[in-house]
Parts: sequence; C-alpha cells; structure tokens
Amino acid sequence: MARCGTQAHFLAGGTSLVVDLKTDRYQTDHVISLNRIAALRGISPADNGVRIGSLTTLDELATSDLIREKCLVICEAAREMASPQIRNLGTVGGNIVGAVPCADLPPVMTVMYSTINLWSLSGVRNMPIEAFFVGPRQTVRRNDEILTEVIVPQPPARFGAAYARFGLREANSVSVAAVAASLVLKADGTVDQARICLSAVAGKPTLVADAESGLAGKVLNESSLDRAAKAAMATAQPISDVRGSAYYRRELIGTLTRRALLAAQKRAAGEK
Ligand SMILES: Cc1cc2nc3c(=O)[nH]c(=O)nc-3n(C[C@H](O)[C@H](O)[C@H](O)COP(=O)(O)OP(=O)(O)OC[C@H]3O[C@@H](n4cnc5c(N)ncnc54)[C@H](O)[C@@H]3O)c2cc1C
Repeated sequence: MARCGTQAHFLAGGTSLVVDLKTDRYQTDHVISLNRIAALRGISPADNGVRIGSLTTLDELATSDLIREKCLVICEAAREMASPQIRNLGTVGGNIVGAVPCADLPPVMTVMYSTINLWSLSGVRNMPIEAFFVGPRQTVRRNDEILTEVIVPQPPARFGAAYARFGLREANSVSVAAVAASLVLKADGTVDQARICLSAVAGKPTLVADAESGLAGKVLNESSLDRAAKAAMATAQPISDVRGSAYYRRELIGTLTRRALLAAQKRAAGEK
C-alpha cells in the first residue's frame, strides 16, 4: 500500500468495494487483499473485554458464543444485517472503514464504548470508534492504515444495550433509520450513564449528548423517555431519498429511541 499510493484500496470481503468499483464510485489500479493476514481474524477474550479481529465475518460475529454472552447487542445487529451470502463474506473491518452512514456495526459498537486499532508502518493508533468517522464514507484513517481490531470493553454491572432498526423489509435491506442505546443503572434504578447513537440520519454515527446528560440521575419514565426522544429527533439531520423522506426518518428516530432505551433498561435491570 505504501508503494501503490493513495488510489489503491484494501480488499476484505469485497461486498462493498466490488460494488463501488463496478459502479465507478472509486477507480483504482491496485486492490490489495488483506485475506491472508491471519492475525486480523478471530474473536477472543481480551484483558478487559473482547477483541474482534477486523477480518471477522458478519456471520462469525452473529454466531459467536463469546459475542452473544459479552455483547449481545452486537450479535443482534449482525444477525439483522444483509443476507446469509453477504454475512458470509462481509467483514467487521469493511463495515467500519466503509463509513456508510447506514452501516449497522458503528452505532452498536459506539454504545458499547468500543475502541479500534489502526496499524501502519508508522505504528499503531488507538481511538474510540466514534472518533473514527468524519462524514459519509470519510474517516480519519490514512490510506496506508489497516484497521486491525475492535476492542469491546467489559461493561460494568447493571449495564444494558439495545438496537432498534427500521428497514423496508426483513432481509437484505439497509436501515432507513436506527438507534443504538446503552444504559448503566444505579442500584436504585435511576440512570447512572446513558449513551444513544443515531444511524442513517446524518453523515456519520451521531451521539445525542443532550439526551445522555438529560437522562443522568433520572428514572426512565414517560416524561424522561419523551425528552430523550425529542432530543434525538432534534439531533438527527436526515436526508430524503428513495428509502424515506427526512420527515419520516425524523419521526422514526423518536420511536426507535424510545424502543432502544426501554429494551436497554430491561437488560440493565436483569430482565430477559
Ligand atoms: C446486498 C447487500 C446488503 C447489505 N446489507 C447491509 C446491511 O444490512 N447493513 C450494513 O451495515 N451493511 C450492509 N451491506 C454493506 C456491506 O456488505 C457491509 O458493510 C460489509 O460488512 C462490508 O465488509 P467487506 O469486508 O465486504 O468490505 P470490503 O468491500 O472488502 O471493503 C469496504 C471498504 O473498507 C476498506 N477496508 C476493509 N477492511 C479494511 C481494513 N481491515 N483496514 C482498512 N480498510 C479496510 C476497503 O478498502 C473498502 O474501502 C450490504 C451490502 C450488500 C451488497
């Protein structure tokens, strides 16, 4: 990659890149496959959580016992993505580096407080996943950097996370709007910490800072849910396209924020 210059592209599963090359979104003389780098594969326990290698396929993510046990929300998001054929080829790294605004893994990994590692001949850079995205298909990655892994930390006690996604059909449809949420509850049931990340309604995954701070110290009830939903709707900057109007997407965000927060609360409270 260092020899080929800025027009070259890494190839993982190719489910996005090949489409982009065929449709002339990108032109390139060089495609460099990462597929023989064994160190980029696999899901394993890390010191303080789980390490997910960037070449892990979406199917491996959806069917991993470790992921289901330690970060159920990531397993659930992966299960809802695309189709079996795409999940067999598509990878975690491609989903993140592609930085498509409706990609499913960035929001759920964000509410799990994940970090990523980028490797190049100049060394390793580590950052919170939310700091990686700049805009549609734009990230802070330099062209010679390989995304090597995602680290999902071990959540604290009374933690729950959930993902509410709306697509136009059950399978093989990207989300029209989606909300990932996580909550840490105090022993008395009030919210200690909240994280809400919107997807497909802005150029990049977007945290809803007002809702997060507004929920701290509160019980999740009709009025706090309503305030959080309104803050999420105000933060969204949706566009109108073939999948839905901006108005429709904003309305969806209100509903999905409520759903994600209620499901996260149940999990944080230990309910199945
Ligand atoms: C029919 C269809 C349905 C789909 N449905 C969904 C869906 O429901 N949800 C969703 O989120 N996505 C969906 N996608 C998009 C895509 O399949 C996923 O984002 C997939 O995870 C991409 O991974 P990949 O390995 O195929 O990426 P590739 O196509 O190989 O690469 C994508 C981009 O990332 C770069 N890249 C890949 N890995 C690395 C790395 N380790 N380091 C540096 N750069 C890297 C490549 O250079 C390229 O620019 C769908 C695609 C199709 C064709």
